[in-house]
Amino acid sequence: MAQHQFQTEVSQLLHLIIHSLYSNREIFLRELVSNASDALDKLKYLTVAEEAYKSISFEPRIDISFNKDAKTLTIGDNGIGMNEPDLIESLGTIARSGTKAFLEKLTADVKKDSNLIGQFGVGFYSAFMVAETIEVLSRKAGEEEAWKWTSDGKEGYTIERTPPEALGTPQGTQVILHLTEEGTEYTNRWSIEEVIKRYSNHVAFPIYLTYDEKEYDDKGKEKASKIKTERINSGTALWRRAKSELTEKDYTEFYQQFGHAAEDPLFYIHTKAEGTLEYTTLFYIPQKAPFDLYQVDYKPGVKLYVKRVFITDDDKELMPTWLRFVRGIIDSEDLPLNVSREILQQNKILLNIKNASVKKLLGEFKTLAENQKEKWETFISQFNRPLKEGLYQDFANREALQELVRFKSTTTEGWIGFAGYVSRMKSDQKHIYYITGGDEKTLKASPLLEAYTAKDIEVLIMDDEIDEIVIPSIHKYKEWELKAVNRSGADEELGEKQDKQAEKENKPVLEKLKKALGDRVKEVKLSRRLHDSPSCIVADEHDPSLQMAAMLKAMGQTDMPDIKPILEVNGEHPLVAALKNTEDEQRIADVAGVLLDQALLVEGAKLKDPADFVKRLNRLLVP
Ligand code: ADP
Repeated sequence: MAQHQFQTEVSQLLHLIIHSLYSNREIFLRELVSNASDALDKLKYLTVAEEAYKSISFEPRIDISFNKDAKTLTIGDNGIGMNEPDLIESLGTIARSGTKAFLEKLTADVKKDSNLIGQFGVGFYSAFMVAETIEVLSRKAGEEEAWKWTSDGKEGYTIERTPPEALGTPQGTQVILHLTEEGTEYTNRWSIEEVIKRYSNHVAFPIYLTYDEKEYDDKGKEKASKIKTERINSGTALWRRAKSELTEKDYTEFYQQFGHAAEDPLFYIHTKAEGTLEYTTLFYIPQKAPFDLYQVDYKPGVKLYVKRVFITDDDKELMPTWLRFVRGIIDSEDLPLNVSREILQQNKILLNIKNASVKKLLGEFKTLAENQKEKWETFISQFNRPLKEGLYQDFANREALQELVRFKSTTTEGWIGFAGYVSRMKSDQKHIYYITGGDEKTLKASPLLEAYTAKDIEVLIMDDEIDEIVIPSIHKYKEWELKAVNRSGADEELGEKQDKQAEKENKPVLEKLKKALGDRVKEVKLSRRLHDSPSCIVADEHDPSLQMAAMLKAMGQTDMPDIKPILEVNGEHPLVAALKNTEDEQRIADVAGVLLDQALLVEGAKLKDPADFVKRLNRLLVP
């Protein structure tokens, strides 16, 4: 018998599950049944797809039984099964780094964590909420040996060989729970049935419950006892049933069972396509963004079935990446059952289904935006960012996506779309203006906005990092060009006239400033957009902005030339105007340094030499 230690994260996870999910402990049954169902799916797939498995005669089923006296509850399946390395890998470690990352971020707020926990594939371990000890007997399809995994859910587990006959099926798994005192509430036909109906009614395989039916005489004494086996789930693939037959509750229950979700979905879209291609899709949009939405190894949310046979739940190609928050099912009538991963990748049928599904989803999002304000706000608060990714990546759907993405604005509360912005545009306004690079508060306080505010022109506040990449890449919304206000030249577009006289008057001051700043700036210019502030910085037409440069650097782009800003100054500001009459080099250098550094500060940039800034500022403060 081999002794094993749990990976540290497993112990952590066990602890968390037991202490946070306890009030909801009946979900352990859903989790074990869902594992059994996955195991059946996997074997079913092999028996149709792979020669070596075709000879296996296989009636997929899940069996639940209990023994009141021995205080055991057993969940069995005749699915794929596990061999020794599988057991170590699956029931001793946590493979997905997303779960690990989650555990690292655990807060003291157990309630919050426990709401999250349902999103992780932590299922099996939840059985320790009701069991002191768990034995897992398993035999992998096509293999001779059977194994027994045993653990009390504390530090580790043991694995030993076990006679294959112990299993009762040619292959598969039996999970035997040795129940705690409180766990014995599940050695009862009614409570098991209730939980299965609630959570696992739509599992596509039959679930049988074996129980003892006793007959009693008049005096209440046991007369006879009969062992009965009865099917307890309805088990049709829900997505294949007609919409008219299904209730809201059916859809919600299916989502919770299928997506391991605790809450209701935000909405769902059930489509049956008939014609050249025949397929069914059932998509759910969650209320909350999945925890791994921004992780490289996110778990895809869409499962592929062919003629109701499960094919894969691990194919990221089924949906474009930007739609990775969608949960659901694609079930095709036209694909061959034995499709391999490689074939899937370039399969025309699948590609068509995918494209049609994306269009369908985009259409539904649009309807939501137009007709269901509250749901739309929830949706956009969670998924605005992936939609923007789509804008950047998915050229074919760019127009539709442009109608969906939302921003904040200088003049209007709430989420602003391009269409709304355009409808409020001034009659002589030619462009859509936006500002990027910082959080909402910093952006709203930017001196760059002064000229727009003075003219009562709305500017879109793009405070999401991704805006910086996405927006410049799309250039236009319909016939309107998108213009960043932090660009050199943006003031001309605004229609601000060049004042020849002022240019001439200020030339010496600009030269003094440029000389003092040297190569810290590309240029010093007289600003036409500042009203109250003395200075601001802008990027040259084709240079990346300050924030963009910082982001590229953070992403590992090290070979970038040092990008220098253009300093714009307000010739009417006393601080600048006073320079006309001085040749005091120290004073010029101090004012120049402060004008540049304060412009950087309001942009949210970090000063390279804050001590220098403070020294200069203090000198200027002394009259
Ligand atoms: P998840 O099901 O989300 O992956 P679990 O902790 O419930 O997480 O299970 C871990 C793994 O153990 C599964 O992914 C699967 O590989 C394996 N497993 C669990 N139960 C069974 C079973 N009844 N038959 C075959 N494999 C199983």
